[in-house]
Amino acid sequence: MDEKTIKSQLVKVTKITIISSIVICALVLGTFSYVMNQAHESDHIQMKTEVEEYKVRISKQIDKNIQILTTLAKSYEISKITDSEDLLEKSIAETNKANSFVSMAYISIKNYGIINAPNIGTKRGITLDDFNEYSRAAIKQSFNGENAVSKMFDSEIYDGKLFVYSVPVYENSQIIGAIAASDTLEIFEDIVNGHTVLSGQGYIHLLDGEGDFLVRSQNTLVKEDLSSIFDGPYLSESERESVEKALKSRESMYGDFMYKGRECHFYISPMDINGWYIFCANKLWGPTLSFGRSVMILGAVLFSLLIIMFFILYYSYYRFRKNSSLLIKLAYYDNITGTINTLRFDQKFEQIRDRQKNYCIAALNIHNFKWINDLFGIEDGNKVLRYIKSEIEANLKPDEFFCRDSADLFYLFLADDKKQILSKRISMIISNIKETTAHDNYGYELSLYCGMSINGTREQALVALQSIKHNMQVDIAYYDSKLHELMRKKNDIESHMMAALKNREFEMFLQPKIDLKSGKIASAEALVRWRLPDGSYRYPNEFIPIFEANGFSEKLDIYMIEQTCILLRKWTDDGVNPLPISVNQSKRLFANGKYPEEITKIVESYNIPASLITLEILENIASGDTDQINNQIESLHKIGFKISMDDFGSGYSSLNMLYRLKIDELKLDKGFMKKVSVDDDERRKTMLNQIISFAKKLGVSTVAEGIETEEDQNYMISLCCDYGQGYYYDKPLNKEKFSKKYIYGKDL
Ligand code: C2E
Ligand code: MG
Ligand code: MG
Repeated sequence: MDEKTIKSQLVKVTKITIISSIVICALVLGTFSYVMNQAHESDHIQMKTEVEEYKVRISKQIDKNIQILTTLAKSYEISKITDSEDLLEKSIAETNKANSFVSMAYISIKNYGIINAPNIGTKRGITLDDFNEYSRAAIKQSFNGENAVSKMFDSEIYDGKLFVYSVPVYENSQIIGAIAASDTLEIFEDIVNGHTVLSGQGYIHLLDGEGDFLVRSQNTLVKEDLSSIFDGPYLSESERESVEKALKSRESMYGDFMYKGRECHFYISPMDINGWYIFCANKLWGPTLSFGRSVMILGAVLFSLLIIMFFILYYSYYRFRKNSSLLIKLAYYDNITGTINTLRFDQKFEQIRDRQKNYCIAALNIHNFKWINDLFGIEDGNKVLRYIKSEIEANLKPDEFFCRDSADLFYLFLADDKKQILSKRISMIISNIKETTAHDNYGYELSLYCGMSINGTREQALVALQSIKHNMQVDIAYYDSKLHELMRKKNDIESHMMAALKNREFEMFLQPKIDLKSGKIASAEALVRWRLPDGSYRYPNEFIPIFEANGFSEKLDIYMIEQTCILLRKWTDDGVNPLPISVNQSKRLFANGKYPEEITKIVESYNIPASLITLEILENIASGDTDQINNQIESLHKIGFKISMDDFGSGYSSLNMLYRLKIDELKLDKGFMKKVSVDDDERRKTMLNQIISFAKKLGVSTVAEGIETEEDQNYMISLCCDYGQGYYYDKPLNKEKFSKKYIYGKDL
């Protein structure tokens, strides 16, 4: 998964999270508000329906009683019964008895009348003044031709409230009086008895036009004793105003009020009688509310959950994003320079390869970068790397890119395939860096070198780079067929080395070392040869550098020590004097802490005195920690091994190094044997003289390598060198030939 894919997936996750959160929120809120509205709506409808039905029932009851009185009035008109006081009295008394009125009266427009009531009997000669004000008002309405129903009043003749029906009585189309009948509140029995509507949740009350309770249900929502709906703190100011307005204009209205922290609602509807109203307070809203509340709580919980979910998602996303970018950074970026690493480089290379057929991969490296780290510290080293990064960056074209591999190795993808252009571009980068570091306060001049592979791979660029690693004169090398062959060989060697060791394809050859004073053999050097299955030999310079780089030389050197021990054992067992043998040891093996122990085990297992073995180490070993090397030498000395420094003078050796390392023998590199010019010969002689005499003073014996002629030999004898080794005496021989010639035959 590359960075682009991770990013697009992140965007996808974000979108899905946001959209699903919005949809869930909308659904929850939508459902919630729909349920609430529905509950509210159906509650209202139900309350209104029930109130209207109740109103009709009461009206019908009142109409029925009015009808009774109207029929009686009609019969009075037809029979002119009002002319006879006796007949009138009888009729009133009988009608009252036949119906369930509390009292019944006839009163003429001339203000003279008869009243009948069961507990007082019949009274004649009553006037309007004998009636209470509400009854009087109703009768007066009938004198004006109206059927009337009085307001309620407390009666003296009845224990409880009464009200009065009154109808006009005509004679010859003239109003001559009115029949009035008082009635109990029985028709409001349902209300009085606390009859409930709305499945027991709604309570009906009768109000007058001012909002005073005419009939208040026994069952009340508000338990306190109230005489008006405006009493108490229940209605809000605005609700109060709305109710007053509705009462004035005789309109129905819905309203809400708070009772004991619960929201209730009510419905007021005007009746056609006396400006009365039916008032219904609905407890239904309570449970509905709790249902509503449940919905609300559910909604709130859901909403909170959603918010939490959203935050968790967001947080996860945020973490994911952060981690991803961290992962991307860790996976694809170099933390020192901030540029991409080889993994990302290879991905980009794969992507661009089809588009960009002509390209070049360059591997750029600093000569001796390790020194910068060692001498100036890691931070300075990092500063250098960052500077190189910026320099490369500034010299790339839009389609080009680069990465840092490890240490000071940079790979560049260049969109060019012409050697001339490529060399110019790279040279410019190299010289820019060189100049800047020489002038700016870096304290050292950086020297870079570059391996390039046109239309090739990173590995090929690296091979080209390695081919000039030790050549400070050349800055740029291209991967070509020669390097290709080298690489093929390297691969071949590396893929066969393990099997070769197992199959004993590595053979020990020996070259004699001659005592220059006596001219006799003093010792031998073990040199490895790789015998291939076809019988041919591979020489050390072909494979030793590869083994030293990949670490296999450690195994091979131990193997050679063992082969040396086997031979020394054989010579000893054969009763001949064993000749000391020098064995070449790689730097890596020598630096290994367990090395002395390991080789001691080997010599002990063959019961060979360690003094018969000299360990040859290369002079470049001195570039390591001198104290540590001396410690190692000391441990080896204790066991009995001798230490020889090989190829002295081939690299960066110095007399100082000779002084510091506690070695037993110094092998002068065969390069000293090459006479280039007369001038050169003088210098060479002076140098060799110095080295040999210095070595002698330190008790270190000297060996001249590469003695090929008698002249070489005499030259080294004249310089008082102790030993000589070279083709002049013998080439390296396999152990059988060597043993036969130098051990058993003893023929020199
Ligand atoms: P060295 O240890 O300096 O070995 C001497 C090399 O010089 C040998 O090359 C030898 O054949 C060659 N030589 C001897 N006399 C003359 C002469 O008169 N003129 C010239 N021009 N050369 C001469 P060889 O055997 O090819 O070994 C090359 C190098 O490989 C050795 O140099 C040594 O450094 C390394 N080497 C050889 N065997 C081993 C081994 O078993 N382990 C390790 N680590 N390195 C080994
Ligand atoms: Mg050697
Ligand atoms: Mg040598």
